[in-house]
Amino acid sequence: MADGNSVTAIRGAALTFTDDPFRNPVEDCMRHESDAVIIMADGKITEFGPANEVLPKVPDGVEVTTYSDALILPGFIDCHVHYPQTEIIGAYGKQLIDWLNKYTFVAEQSFKDKDHAHEVAQVFLREGLRCGTTTSTVFCTVNPISVDAFFEESEKLNMRNIAGKVLMDRNAPDALMDTPQQGYEESKELIGRWHNKGRSLYCVTPRFAPTSTPEQMELAGAVWKEHPGTYLQSHVSENLGEIEWVKELYPERNGYVDVYHHYGHLGPRSILGHGVHLTEEEFQVLHDTGTAISHCPTSNLFLGSGLFSVENAMDEKRPVRVGLATDLGAGTNFSQLVTMNEAYKVAQMSGYALSAPHAYYLATRGAAHALYLEDKIGTIAVGMEADLTVLDLNATPILEYRMKYAKDLDEVLFVVMTLGDDRTACATYVAGELLYSRDANIRNETFCASLSGV
Ligand SMILES: [Zn+2]
Repeated sequence: MADGNSVTAIRGAALTFTDDPFRNPVEDCMRHESDAVIIMADGKITEFGPANEVLPKVPDGVEVTTYSDALILPGFIDCHVHYPQTEIIGAYGKQLIDWLNKYTFVAEQSFKDKDHAHEVAQVFLREGLRCGTTTSTVFCTVNPISVDAFFEESEKLNMRNIAGKVLMDRNAPDALMDTPQQGYEESKELIGRWHNKGRSLYCVTPRFAPTSTPEQMELAGAVWKEHPGTYLQSHVSENLGEIEWVKELYPERNGYVDVYHHYGHLGPRSILGHGVHLTEEEFQVLHDTGTAISHCPTSNLFLGSGLFSVENAMDEKRPVRVGLATDLGAGTNFSQLVTMNEAYKVAQMSGYALSAPHAYYLATRGAAHALYLEDKIGTIAVGMEADLTVLDLNATPILEYRMKYAKDLDEVLFVVMTLGDDRTACATYVAGELLYSRDANIRNETFCASLSGV
């Protein structure tokens, strides 16, 4: 892989957000350059602006790669995803709890095998890069091997990923359970090994309240608090049956969010998956504590969980940080474009038309904001980490045809998120290095070489 010192320059139309369109007029939050040049060096963006201004600054000997009929965006960010479930995407099932028992808890048991964990991590990262995703917040399994394998593969690609070992000490198969003390010690060791190593960030990961005892919940909150700067992730209010189960397991608590609040799991850098059925009081607690929600529309539809209201979550009286997420393998597609498409439809079902700029924000700068990383990723600007995706506006015959009738940028963006998928991402840059190029067939050379550590 590259040493990170090389200089890269690319040219094409570029779009980025500079602020939050849910709180400000969209036109004040978006920067669109119809002909931009971006220079990247040492993993960061060093120049970004109109081609006529930036071209003279391209160092001698550096070739500028031009993308025509394309749109350069910050790399997509996936705020909630399970890499061990890559092998069970699209498994037919009932709702959440049945699906967990029938598929997930079976698949996750094979991650005691390091070779298997590496293989799945490679496929997972490859598929993300093929869709333009450059950062993910990832659940591993209860076995620390699954975390080491994931971060080792992520590190080879110099990716900024967030991940952690799942904590479960009840209501799961014996082979997938730790104990409160074991989970605490293993999390602590993994934090020491991986947090802030290169671009890796650690996330304390109690799966969800039903699979941890109060004692484990207590220690999960403790280990997170003892290591400032680390993350905490879990699931909340995904499914109505699950919510009833949490009430039975924690009768002394005032609802699902209160369980996490009580054990010290809320705050900046805490991100909870779903939040489909949150109450007004619960949204207020998330706002007050700075806790984020990951919105997982393909997963919520696939498992019949319900319809998350992004409009309600963003209520200006008490806005909650929200990032878009795939939640694979209950989610059904690696592409954040497909996920935006489904987010639009989910919002429509509750009478809210999510605009294209708002949807792209949720998968880039908004996701970075949810993760408290907006000073590093999610925006194209000088000093930001150089993670970019390039979308081909003519990626398929129907996209190419449809684009002829697109009247303005909003329409282009909306058509791309409605008709686009993995074929639309034609190049993905990570820390300034081209890791995936659909057309140059680099996937078979540099891309796979990076994945196998050459
Ligand atoms: Zn999940």
